[in-house]
Amino acid sequence: MLRFSTALLLFMCSLSAVAQNEISASSLFLKPGEPVPQECQQAAQLFAHLAAIYPHPKSGWHFVIVCDDNSWDAVMQKMGLVDGLTHYGETEIDRRITLFRGRKLIHPDTGVSPEFIVAHELAHIMLHSRNEQIVDLTARKWVENFRNPIVQSKGPSNY
Ligand SMILES: [Zn+2]
Repeated sequence: MLRFSTALLLFMCSLSAVAQNEISASSLFLKPGEPVPQECQQAAQLFAHLAAIYPHPKSGWHFVIVCDDNSWDAVMQKMGLVDGLTHYGETEIDRRITLFRGRKLIHPDTGVSPEFIVAHELAHIMLHSRNEQIVDLTARKWVENFRNPIVQSKGPSNY
């Protein structure tokens, strides 16, 4: 269903890794050898930080931060995902690749936190699910649990 082509990503640069996964930054509007824009590096670092917090695959997954919105729109068009909805990330389970809209990690929309964007795509991966409702529920749980960790009581408990 995904016709995303890596050839579309004229520029790709390996930035860092979460465990044995690959994280790249990509833009259609950078020439080879041009440095990754600072904001895109920030987005990749933020992703790596958040991905380490939530459940994530141990190895073999390729995460791509699509740097700018023009590149993102082009990728969405290529993937046939121009449907009037706002897309913040896309996971192609069979190809073990997840794309993130880098700009929205750094300049989040109201109500769509970077934490949630990352958790949502990771939930697709970890649940092996394309069911948006189940994935959404799981991602919300992960984000909430991290923000309000259950305080370990040292006293007697009811459990
Ligand atoms: Zn989704």
